[in-house]
Amino acid sequence: MDIQAPKGTKDMLPQDAYKWQYVENTFKEIAKYYGMRELRTPMFEHTELFKRGVGDTTDIVQKEMYTFNDKGDRSITLKPEGTAPAVRAFIESRLFNEVQPTKLYYATPCFRYENVQKGRFRQFHQFGTEIFGSKEPSMDAEVIAFAMSVLKKLGLSSLSLNINNLGCPSCRPKYNEALKQYLKDNYENLCDLCKSRFEKNPMRILDCKNHKCNEITKNAPIILDFMCDECDTHFTKVKEYLDALNVPYKIDPGIVRGLDYYTKTIFEILNDDFTVCGGGRYDKLIEQLGGPEMPAVGFGMGVERLIMILEKEGIEIPNELLFDLYIGARGDEAKLAAFTLANKLRAVGIKTEVNHMGRSIKAEMKYANKIGAAFTTILGDDELQNKVIKLKRMSDGEQFEVSLDHIEEIVNVIR
Ligand code: ATP
Ligand code: MG
Repeated sequence: MDIQAPKGTKDMLPQDAYKWQYVENTFKEIAKYYGMRELRTPMFEHTELFKRGVGDTTDIVQKEMYTFNDKGDRSITLKPEGTAPAVRAFIESRLFNEVQPTKLYYATPCFRYENVQKGRFRQFHQFGTEIFGSKEPSMDAEVIAFAMSVLKKLGLSSLSLNINNLGCPSCRPKYNEALKQYLKDNYENLCDLCKSRFEKNPMRILDCKNHKCNEITKNAPIILDFMCDECDTHFTKVKEYLDALNVPYKIDPGIVRGLDYYTKTIFEILNDDFTVCGGGRYDKLIEQLGGPEMPAVGFGMGVERLIMILEKEGIEIPNELLFDLYIGARGDEAKLAAFTLANKLRAVGIKTEVNHMGRSIKAEMKYANKIGAAFTTILGDDELQNKVIKLKRMSDGEQFEVSLDHIEEIVNVIR
C-alpha cells in the first residue's frame, strides 16, 4: 500500500498495547489515591482558546498548532496541550461554584506541528493533572509528589526533578525590565522570533531553542533574585514540603517552560535524553479565560517519552498472558462442545481460545504455544462421552482431570 501514516504519527500496534495500558492504568490508579477525577475534553477547540490560554508568544502558538477553518468557517485547532481546554471546561460548566479544590486528571492525544525527531512527534499523548482552587504551596508539592510517585511506581526513581519560581505579576515586571536591560546590547543578534518577543514577553527568550540566543542568555539575570516576598515565601514552603516527603530536587533558575500561563512554581522531570514531565502553577489563567480569580497547579507528562525511558532502562512491563486455556477439538461434535465451553469459561473470566482456522491437532498445539496459553485441553469422542477432560499445564506438562460439566472445577485448576 502506498499510503502511509502522516509524518510524526504512529500506530499503537497490538503487540505494544499492553505497555500503554500498563502505564495508563498505573497513572489512573495513583490519581485515585489523590482524589483526582477524570476529565475528557474535545480533540479540537476554538483557536482563540489557545492563543489566549497558552500565549501568543509561545512556540506552540507561533509555530506548532494544527489550525484550520471548518466548513462553517470557524477557526479550529487540534489541542496542542491539555491545560487550556481543562480550564475552559471548568469555567463553562461552572465547576468553580462547587466545593474546592477541583482535582482533575486526563490522558489525551496532543497535536503539534513539530520538527519530528527522537521523542518528538506531531501526535503524541499526555497524562496530565490540573488542580483548581488552592493557592497553598502544599498543593504544588502534592502535584510534584504525584508525578514522582507515578514514575517511581513504574520503576523510574533515577529521574531528576528541577524546580524554579517564575514570580507573579507583582515581581515579574521588574525582572522583565532587568532582562531587557541585559539583552538590549545583543538585540541585533537574537533570532527574529526572539526580537518579536523582546517587548511582549522577554522571558520567553530564555526558552528559545536557537543556539545563538542560548549563548546570549547564558549569563542573564535570574528571576529568583527579583522575587517579591509572597513568591519568596511560597517557594520556601514548596521546598519545605518536598523535603518533608523526601523528594529530591534541584533548583534550576534557567527553566521557564514553554507556556505563558505559569506563575510561581514550575518544574520539570527529566533524564539525559528527555524532559518527560513539565508543569507548574498558573494562578491567573482561569481569570484570563473569563472565570473567577482562582489559583491552579498542574502538569503534563509525555507518554511516548515515558515508554521510551522505561524501555531504555530495561524495565519490564508486565504483559498479561494472552490466554489461560486453549481448547482443541477432534471432529465436529467436539468443535461445537469446545466452542460452547470456551464461551462459558470466558463468562467467568478465563481467557480462552478455540480453533477458528481449521488447524490440524498438531498445528493447534503449536498455535496454543505461540499464543502463550497456560493450559491446553483436547476434546474428542471419549471426553464427550465420559464428561471428563484433561487440562495440561504447559509450563511443566502436568495433567489435571476435571469434569466437563463442572465449570468451577476447570476454573479452580486454571486459577
Ligand atoms: P519540549 O521543551 O521538549 O518541547 P514542551 O515544553 O513543549 O517540551 P510541554 O508543553 O510542557 O512540553 O508538554 C509536557 C510534556 O509533553 C513534555 O515534557 C513531553 O514529555 C511531552 N511532549 C511535548 N511535546 C511533545 C512532542 N512533540 N512529542 C512527544 N512528546 C511531547
Ligand atoms: Mg515544545
